[in-house]
This record gives sequence, C-alpha cells and structure tokens, in this order.
Amino acid sequence: METVTFVLFGATGDLAKRKIYPALYNLFLEQKLPKCFHVIGLGRRELSDEVFQAGVEQSVTQFSRRKANDPVSLKSFVHAFRYQALDIGRKEDYTKLLQRIEQRERELNLTPNRMFYLSVGPEFFAAIATNIKESGLGSAAGWKRLLIEKPFGHDLQSARELNRQLSEAFSEQEIFRIDHYLGKPMVQKLGALQQNNPVLDALWTNRYIANVQITANETVGVEERAGYYDRAGAVRDMFQNHMLQLLMMVAIHLPKNSTPEEVRLKKKKVMEDLVPLHKQDIASHVIRGQYAAGTIQGKSVPGYTSEPNISEASLNDTFIAAKLQIDAPFWRGVPFYIRTGKRLKEKSTRIVVEFKEPLKQQASAQEEKPMPNLLVFEMSPHEGITLQLNTRDPQHQGAFKPIHIDFHSNHQDLPEAYENLLYDALLGKPTFFAHWDEVELSWQWVEPILQAFGDQLVPLHPYPAGTYGPAESDALLAKDGYHWWFDSECSSEIQLKGEQYAYHSNH
Ligand code: NAP
Repeated sequence: METVTFVLFGATGDLAKRKIYPALYNLFLEQKLPKCFHVIGLGRRELSDEVFQAGVEQSVTQFSRRKANDPVSLKSFVHAFRYQALDIGRKEDYTKLLQRIEQRERELNLTPNRMFYLSVGPEFFAAIATNIKESGLGSAAGWKRLLIEKPFGHDLQSARELNRQLSEAFSEQEIFRIDHYLGKPMVQKLGALQQNNPVLDALWTNRYIANVQITANETVGVEERAGYYDRAGAVRDMFQNHMLQLLMMVAIHLPKNSTPEEVRLKKKKVMEDLVPLHKQDIASHVIRGQYAAGTIQGKSVPGYTSEPNISEASLNDTFIAAKLQIDAPFWRGVPFYIRTGKRLKEKSTRIVVEFKEPLKQQASAQEEKPMPNLLVFEMSPHEGITLQLNTRDPQHQGAFKPIHIDFHSNHQDLPEAYENLLYDALLGKPTFFAHWDEVELSWQWVEPILQAFGDQLVPLHPYPAGTYGPAESDALLAKDGYHWWFDSECSSEIQLKGEQYAYHSNH
C-alpha cells in the first residue's frame, strides 16, 4: 500500500469519533495501513496535537470493536495523528494546511499522496473542493483522493450541481462516494456468492425467481436529526441511495474476477433498465407512511409529529415501500419490492429472494402446499444466509415441511463497513463506492416520486410505531399474490413449522 497523508475535515465531529478512528485503529491492528500512515485532523476549534490525540484514544477505547487494551500499540497508533484548526471558508487556513502537510511529508520522507475525507455537512463539500484546488493542496506530484458521504444532493438538480463543482477539483476516478451499505460484509459478498456458486448463478433469472424483497427496517425514530430528516424523508435518506444500491448489488450478473469497471457498468445498466414510474403510476407502486405513537419493545414512543423540532403539520415520510421492475432479459416480470422506515417493530436489513413454486400445482387440494424456496441474505443486526427448502415429514403423514439451512457468522469478528471502505479507498479500489452515474440515475429514477410526494399526490398513511409499517405496504404485495417474508405471522409460521440445520462458523 502506498504512503498517504490522510486529511480529515470534521476531525472533532461525531462521525470521526464513532466510526472513522475506530475503523482506522482496527486496520492498524491488522496491519492494513501504509507503513508511514499519518493523519492531519481539522476542525474550527483550537486544539493541541496532544489533546487531539487523547480524543482519538478515547474514541477508540469507547467505540472500537476490538478492545484497545494494549497501551503500546494504542500509543503507536495515536502518534500518527496531528491537528490543525481550519475554518472551511478561510482560504489562508488552506495555505497553512499545505505548509503543515509539506513539512510532515518532508519529515517522514513521503510521496505526496493525499486523501481528503470530508466528515462535515454536505453544504461544505463544494467549498472545500474548491479551496483544495485553489490552495495547491491537490496539485502535488502524488495522487489525491476525495472521500465524501451521502447525501449527494437533495434532488437531481442539486446533485448535478454538486458534482459539477466537485469535478472542477477532482476527476471521477479521484472521488470515492461512501454509501456505507456497500461496506457491509454481506453486501460485499453478494457478487462473490453468485459468481462462485453455479447453483445460485444458474437460478439468478426470472425463470426461477418469483420476486425479490429488500427491507431495511429501523426501530429508532428521527432522533437528533430533525432538521435534516424532516426535509429528506425516508425517500431521500434511505431509498434513493442505500436501497437502490442494494437493488443494484443483488440484480447484477457478474463474470468471475470482474474488474471494478465491469461492476460499475453492470450496476449502471441495472439503473438504466429500471422501468421509470410516471406520475399516474406512482400511487399504485409507491406506499408512503409516517409513524404515529406506539410501543416498541415494551416502550411507548411518540408519533413523528410530536418529536422535538418536528412541526405538528409535517407531511414528511418516515416509511416508503415500492414495487420496481427491471426491463432486462434476466429480470423481466420479476417484481423487486423495497421498503424502509423508522420506528418499525424490529431492526433488520435483509434481502429475500423468493423462488417460483413448481410444485404448487402438483399438490392435491387436501394436501398441505409446500412453501416456496427462499434465499435470505441478512445484513443486520446479524449477518447470515438462510436457504428454505421443503421436505416431507414422516411423523405427519408425509406432509410438506420447510427446513432451513442456516449460516450465521460470528458477527463480533466481522469488520465494520467503514473499515472495508477506508481500506479500499487507501488501495484506490472503487468497486464498493457509488459512481456518479449510479447517483445520477438514482436521483433521476426517484425524481417523479419526489415530485408526487411534494404535490401530495400519494396518500401519507399513518402507522403505529412498533408495527411493520402501513397495511397498504402489505397490500402492495398481496395484489401480486405475495407477502413480505418474516413479518410477525409469517416468521412465526416458519419458526413453528420449520426445523433448522445450522452451521455456525467459529472464526
Ligand atoms: P458533527 O458532529 O456536527 O461534526 C461536524 C464537524 O465539522 C466538526 O468536526 C466541526 O468542527 C466541523 N465543522 C463544522 N463547521 C466547520 C467549519 N466552518 N469549518 C471547519 N470545520 C467545521 O457532524 P457528524 O455527525 O460528524 O457528521 C459529519 C457528516 O457525516 C455529516 O454530513 C453527516 O450527515 C455525515 N454522517 C454522519 C454520521 C454519524 O453517525 N454521525 C453517519 C453518516 C453520515 P468544530 O466543531 O471544531 O468546528
């Protein structure tokens, strides 16, 4: 791995403390950082290097998945950190920053490769990129990279404008857009599972697959993000980015050992083939909800419009479900159902692939019907893969019985999304970052939904906190003869009837 100066804007912020320092620390323990790795943290407040290092040590101790119980290695890790006060809008601060970086590069005898991580509000992205360019920070002889995290714009127009401004300072190859769902280990495995298992690869078509369900349910409410969330809603906060990225990742067909470029082109093709929704289709394809007061895990929680800093009259969506179709030979006729929301019954992110039921017609009227085969990829709260098969139960007159083949990793040991993403960014591997084409096509696809929501053309259904969202979300699938898998009654049905064959890894 090449040497690099890691320049962190927002080094005193929450994301840096909870995610970035712990991720870097775990990479350090695994010797996945460059030999001469060093960080320059930036924020408005004045801090000495020592106070900053103590803050980094504190956040690693508190948030790292691996216990920071070796003082020697912890000291050696934080020694790589330096701090400099910088106000994003003050050009002279960038000149001072350049001098500091050049001095460190000389001291450490480093190639001037520079990675700029913008862990600050998106309203600052364009100004920082411009100042990096104008100050000469980005014109050293080494390479430069820019890491930014969503939101990439508020709609298609603002996303294009942001991209135009960024691309005046950085080329597309130099911009690494973080969508942390792409950093989740199970998401990163989806392609490899399909490519390396002919049994999956052969079935990955509309000939065998009945529908695909992508769910990202949260139990938390709006929390401290009222200002941002009430303008964004579930459609901008989750659907346009994370959910469409999951759709791309599950729908692509990749040859073995595909290059990042091939992955990018295949993902782009999925987005291009996504059947656009026209104004008149939206109400029948998209369900919009907002949580009302309810109970989650025995605790009463307020409705969305009673949350602090949310207007009583807010018509913001905290839930969205949609039916999407891909007009491509592999996927024609297979609905992709996507849903995501806040204050739902349980936290879970999963993809369920429901296979067609060739045996359905063979079962006699009296006989219990077999369940469809399901392949379930769990991303959180635990990572796992489950395959639901049918067998006959000799103890019950040979009735059909579902069994589950289960693989669950010991999630304690899995790298966090930010570790995977930072490691790839340090290596310059773009596969699990959002390319501008994907971002633009996602906004383009979502734009009519934003307009329909804005014009109140889609009813806003209230749902009690602690449920699986509005009943209309179930009706969306029921119209096609399907239901969401693993919501209460369905999952208990499986658990009661099913028998589990579990494989647990110990790694
Ligand atoms: P935060 O806690 O409010 O931190 C903001 C950081 O930006 C602080 O270090 C602050 O430094 C710095 N800053 C603000 N204005 C500045 C200015 N004018 N000049 C220089 N520095 C300035 O925010 P955060 O939660 O870390 O979030 C950062 C970004 O990541 C946001 O875009 C957020 O949407 C995104 N994000 C956050 C999370 C998360 O878990 N927190 C998750 C996903 C995405 P001073 O206080 O020293 O001025």
